[in-house]
Amino acid sequence: MEYKIIRLVIKAPFGDTVNTVYPTLLWDEKNIVLVDCGFIGSLTTIEKELAQYGLTVKQLTGLVLTHHDHDHMGAAAALKRVNPNLKIYSSPEEAPYISAQDKPLRLKQAEELQETLPPDQQDFGRAFCDMLRRVEPVPVDDFLNDSDKMDWCGGCRIIATPGHTPGHISLFLEKDSIVITGDAMALEEGRPVIANPQFTLDLNQAENSLNKLLSLKANAYYCYHGGVYGKELPR
Ligand SMILES: [Zn+2]
Repeated sequence: MEYKIIRLVIKAPFGDTVNTVYPTLLWDEKNIVLVDCGFIGSLTTIEKELAQYGLTVKQLTGLVLTHHDHDHMGAAAALKRVNPNLKIYSSPEEAPYISAQDKPLRLKQAEELQETLPPDQQDFGRAFCDMLRRVEPVPVDDFLNDSDKMDWCGGCRIIATPGHTPGHISLFLEKDSIVITGDAMALEEGRPVIANPQFTLDLNQAENSLNKLLSLKANAYYCYHGGVYGKELPR
């Protein structure tokens, strides 16, 4: 085996609907790196997804967190408990929120929003804030900066894509021309869009970041929300 780039699937109930997200697995001879890891409580699903490929959480060598949102880092602390050798990566800007050294910006935003919500949305807002408070922080072991080059899957370049959060990063697998977008790009009805504009901390930055990714003209964009834009590699 040379290497594999695999889209995993995590489904979690959300109110009356189901929320689906797609972490990516970068698997080569030396490294087994997961990019983002689902919600609080997603550990079991990740174990099942890995088992489909004959892998376990203990075999993971790294976990990249594109940013500190609950649907991306929700299971990080649980994964680290199962596999203490797991090396956790993020940008230096996101690390203080991932480790909760600073109050997560998303929680701050949700708490501020709560004050302005109409009465019929107050319960939902409160439940959202409570959920964000339950996200378990985890220490970041190593920083990824813009233009850093990792040796994963034939070469992986880090691309700073701020906007959704200030230190958001995406990954570019140069050999196969695949971008792992995180929340810098989502797919809606097959079209690339900014993920959740209402939660985006800086919309101008987010637009620039989306354009930066599109200007790469990659063969495929693996979007955490929405799936693959372009041609997916066989799983
Ligand atoms: Zn997200």
